[in-house]
Amino acid sequence: MSQKIPATLIPGDGIGPEISEAVVRILKEVEAPFEWDHQLAGMAAVDASGDPLPKATIESIRKTGLALKGPLTTPVGGGFKSINVTLRKEFELFANLRPARTLVPGGRYEDIDLVLFRENLEGYYAALEHYIPADGDPKGIAISTGYNSRKEARRIVTYAFEYAVKNNRKKVTIVHKANILKLLTGLFLEEGREVAKQYEGRIAMDERIVDACAMQLVMNPYQFDVIVTTNLFGDILSDQIAGLIGGLGMAPGANIGEKAAIFEAVHGSAPDIAGKGVANPVALLMAAGLMLQHIGRKDLADRVQAGIDGAFGAGVRTRDLGGQAGTKDLTDAIVQHLR
Ligand code: NAD
Repeated sequence: MSQKIPATLIPGDGIGPEISEAVVRILKEVEAPFEWDHQLAGMAAVDASGDPLPKATIESIRKTGLALKGPLTTPVGGGFKSINVTLRKEFELFANLRPARTLVPGGRYEDIDLVLFRENLEGYYAALEHYIPADGDPKGIAISTGYNSRKEARRIVTYAFEYAVKNNRKKVTIVHKANILKLLTGLFLEEGREVAKQYEGRIAMDERIVDACAMQLVMNPYQFDVIVTTNLFGDILSDQIAGLIGGLGMAPGANIGEKAAIFEAVHGSAPDIAGKGVANPVALLMAAGLMLQHIGRKDLADRVQAGIDGAFGAGVRTRDLGGQAGTKDLTDAIVQHLR
């Protein structure tokens, strides 16, 4: 028996509890060594204690340094600040890794295999916002201040290049908008170019303006390999890339820092389908796969992946993939195909 590894489990809001249950079941089947500490965050925590991010949840992640998190609902406009953003800041989770690979044949594109790294702490996610009066309205203009530091730009671009080296990738594309946001994203590009020089001859470097990149991802996604970009651009492009591989139900993410890592699906709490038993658990399951790799258990991640590939190979599809299977049907099929 391998040694148990304490890990925090946050089921999340909306479809979170349904897909978390499916993922925990599959992890149990492969005897993943996690010992779960169940904690709350988001609306579920507000309902239970009035606090969207209870101290007990933060303390648990501080202790375990490892969490699997379901999606959390963030109120639009007013209300509390995004718990996801708060967690990233609290634990200095500077790198957001979002891999995307075609798993279901017959989609828009075959054989997509892209990895996007998103800077996770700065940019417009600093959310330094205020109103100033204009045109007789005290809230006539809204102002948001974004910032990028050289330190974080170097750290995330280096992380992307190191990932490329370790994972036999060929090229890193730095995505920016330095033609307009000349300082904010110009700084990111400058630092990226400096970092890239250290990898010359090993990993190719390429640069793209974000709008052109968005178009080229649709026209010919195969020209990209690893992409690294600032926070907001990474948020948008990673959803777009999820669209290339069958949608948000297929896209996992990892938030990685020096002292902690939090694994989650790219998608949100999907209130439109919550409680109906139809959500696709694969994105969160693949996030758990990244978590297994993070603790050095690629063997178990491969077993989980074999289950996913087997279930899709057998034609089982949830509604987001054009099928009729429910969360439990797909989970059962994955369990049947675990290696
Ligand atoms: P969403 O990702 O929740 O849903 C977008 C669409 O994709 C919906 O039609 C939904 O049904 C579908 N979808 C998403 N995940 C799916 C799955 N696993 N299986 C099948 N279909 C799936 O985005 P939204 O509606 O813009 O956001 C809802 C809430 O989630 C908001 O409060 C938002 O702030 C929050 N959110 C949280 C996270 C996170 O916790 N990491 C990420 C994004 C959004």
